[in-house]
Amino acid sequence: MTNSTTIINGQVLTHVDEEPPGTVATRAVDDKPPSIAVTREADDDKPPSSLALADRTRLFAHVPEASWRDWRWQFRNRITTVDELTKFIPLTAQEQAQLKLVTTKYPLSVTPYYLSLIDAADPDDPVRKQAIPSFQEITMHDMGMEDPLEEKRDSVVPGLVHRYPDRVLMVLTDICPMLCRHCTRKREWHNGGWVRGEAEIEAMLDYIRQHKEVRDVIISGGDPLTLATRRLEEILSRIRRISHVEIIRIGSRYPVVLPMRLDDELCQMLSKYTPIWLNTHFNSYREITAESAAACDRLVRSGVPVNNQSVLLRGVNDTVEAQLKLCHALLRTKVRPYYLFQCDEVQGTEHLRTPVETGLKIIEGMRGHTSGLAIPTFVIDLPQGLGKIPLQPNYVLKKTGEGIIVRNYQHRIYHYRNPKTETATSRRRNGNGNGNDNGNKVPFPELAPLLKSEQAQ
Ligand code: SF4
Repeated sequence: MTNSTTIINGQVLTHVDEEPPGTVATRAVDDKPPSIAVTREADDDKPPSSLALADRTRLFAHVPEASWRDWRWQFRNRITTVDELTKFIPLTAQEQAQLKLVTTKYPLSVTPYYLSLIDAADPDDPVRKQAIPSFQEITMHDMGMEDPLEEKRDSVVPGLVHRYPDRVLMVLTDICPMLCRHCTRKREWHNGGWVRGEAEIEAMLDYIRQHKEVRDVIISGGDPLTLATRRLEEILSRIRRISHVEIIRIGSRYPVVLPMRLDDELCQMLSKYTPIWLNTHFNSYREITAESAAACDRLVRSGVPVNNQSVLLRGVNDTVEAQLKLCHALLRTKVRPYYLFQCDEVQGTEHLRTPVETGLKIIEGMRGHTSGLAIPTFVIDLPQGLGKIPLQPNYVLKKTGEGIIVRNYQHRIYHYRNPKTETATSRRRNGNGNGNDNGNKVPFPELAPLLKSEQAQ
């Protein structure tokens, strides 16, 4: 064994090359204890039942409780102009002028509920960054693409995207209760709020009926829960009548931006068409309130598992600490952290994007420091419709003839051995090959007589 020093992927290692597999774990010279000190606040340990309700008294004290809890009231009373917004969020005259310009290109829409989560005094509030326009949406507009995922190209009939072999995406509407500033489908915001008509729905269903390889139908938008419950049920029941469709997934941000929509009527309806999975989109632990936790709870109790697909956003959730708080809060709410998306290269979102390395460092800072269930898969959805690529920090340092050299989250090194395959030589040596054996090389000598008698028969 040599005593060499090797640098692999920036790690200074000793004894890497000569270490026999499965014996001694070599160590990084700068082996450190876990470097991410996660400060846990008292709030982190509270069960969902103790989550605070959205504080409507600050901004919406004049609204009767019954109206506030009514999702239709919330939807009708969305804040959609800068003039309305200034009643709730302090904006200078210059900011107002800038935002009016931005909203001619990228409109504004925030539910009163979601607005009540914003700390109006904090311009860097992570909830605010997702809902309130930024002047950079137009000053950096030359960066990115209008439709980076080229969804239009993969549309087989209007509204139906068939990119992967066994699943399709049904886009039922472009209406969302909130217009998220990082949205991949910002290009649709100017098309004026449409819902697919009956002929278009039937064309989509017809395509699915004819393509028996489709076992998974994803219903998305816009936000499909914008449809009336009765209309949604009608579509779900028709999908369920297609025997080769095994599961239905619904993509919706209602649990985050308007959780009152997940009422008993909707959840009971969904429970009739399971297996249905609902993928939602929490980006900050601040979005997990008593109302949103209760909405997820109603879904889960109705037999609809809830997964979370967050987007990595600058100033919102781009630290290990922010992600740990989010994912721990999700698990307490019975929501599984599923994907952490690199923010797509969409025009008007450049100011919210982070380098890919940020995502890798976050995953690195989570792995080993919390349970695997709390760690989402970090993915890039590649432009040109090339699909999702999972990205991981590099734990494999080197491949050897016998296995691989890996490191763990503490940068401890181990030479992991692959299983041996029996060679002709070893078979002869062990006395069980080509008849030239005497049984003496059996590893357990006391078994040799038994082997001989077996071979004699
Ligand atoms: S809910 Fe989804 S589709 Fe709607 S604006 Fe937000 S990110 Fe875009």
